[in-house]
Amino acid sequence: MNILTMPLTRRQAFRAMFGLGGTVASAILPMKAIASTEEHPAHPVAPPDAVGMLYDSTICTGCKACMPACNEANGLPADTLLSGGIWDMPTGLNAQTKNIIELYQDPESDEFAFVKKQCMHCLDPACVTGCPFGSLKKVDFGAVTWNSSLCIGCRYCEVACPFEVPQFEWKALNPKIVKCEFCYDQRLKENLEPACTAACPTGAVIFGKRDALLDQAKGRIAAAPDKYYENRVYGEHEAGGTQVLYLSSVSFQKIGLPKLGNTSLGHYATKVTSVIYKWLGGPMLMAGVLGFAIRRNWNRHELERLKHEKETGFPDQL
Ligand code: SF4
Ligand code: SF4
Ligand code: SF4
Repeated sequence: MNILTMPLTRRQAFRAMFGLGGTVASAILPMKAIASTEEHPAHPVAPPDAVGMLYDSTICTGCKACMPACNEANGLPADTLLSGGIWDMPTGLNAQTKNIIELYQDPESDEFAFVKKQCMHCLDPACVTGCPFGSLKKVDFGAVTWNSSLCIGCRYCEVACPFEVPQFEWKALNPKIVKCEFCYDQRLKENLEPACTAACPTGAVIFGKRDALLDQAKGRIAAAPDKYYENRVYGEHEAGGTQVLYLSSVSFQKIGLPKLGNTSLGHYATKVTSVIYKWLGGPMLMAGVLGFAIRRNWNRHELERLKHEKETGFPDQL
C-alpha cells in the first residue's frame, strides 16, 4: 500500500500533528526564546491597569454561586460527566470548569475552609513563557488569555503552570486549552466585572484594581491579626506575584495553594532558554528537546486518556 494513501487512525493523525508541530516549533522557537531576562525580571511589577480578585476564604460560605455564573458567562455547559446528568461538584478544574470551589477539612479536628480555584493571572506567567507559539498572552488589565488559532495542543502551558490551571479538552476532535481568562472578552472589555465576583452574594471574592485589593487585604489583616494565616496575602509575592490574591485562616498549602518562592517563574525559564541558545547551538538542540518533550507529553496524554476512560466510562474520542 502506498504510504500516502494508507488510512490513518485519528490517534495516528494526532501523533503526526504533534510531530509536525515539533518540527515547526523548532523553527519558530528561537525567535521567542531569545526574550531577555530584562523582559522577565525576577520580581515583576504589575501593569498600571492591572485588575485583580481578592478571595477571602474566611467569608466564603461554599454556596458555589460563582461556579454556574462562570459557566454561563463562558458559554460552558454544566459539567455532568461524572454524575449521570445531574450537575454535581466536579472533582477539579476541567475543560468545562474554569472556576471551582473546593473544601478543605482536617480529618482530625473541626478545622475547615473553602477555597476558590481559577487562573491566578500571574504578573509574569510561566504558561506564557512556556508556550512556544505565543498562544497564551498577557493582555489589557493583565488578564492572561488564550488564542485558539495559534495553539497546537502541545500542552507545555499545563506543564509550566505551577497552579495546574490550564486544562486539555479531552473529548473534542480539535482540543482546546481551557482556563479562566478573567472574563476578558465577555465582560472586562465591556467594563463589567467578572461573572464570578458579580455573582458572589457574600463578598468573599471581590474585583478591583490589584493595588487597591492588596491594600484592602492588608487592612483586613491589620484589623483582625489573629484571624488570618501568617498575616499575609497569598499572591502578593508568590511566583513573582499574581493578580488573584488570597486571605485564609488556615495554611495556604492546606487549601491547595502551592508553596512557591518570590522569583517569577518566567524569569527562571528565560534564564534557562537563554543559556541553551548561547552555548549549545539553539535550534538543533531545541528540536531534540522539543521532540523528546512532545513524545513524553504524548505518552502522558495516552495514560491520562486511559485513566479518564476508566474513571468515566466515556468512549475514547481521540
Ligand atoms: S496561574 Fe497558570 S495558567 Fe494562570 S497565568 Fe499563572 S501560569 Fe498561566
Ligand atoms: S474571571 Fe470569569 S472565567 Fe475566571 S473564574 Fe471568574 S467567571 Fe470564571
Ligand atoms: S459565590 Fe462567593 S460565597 Fe459562594 S462559593 Fe463562590 S466565592 Fe464562596
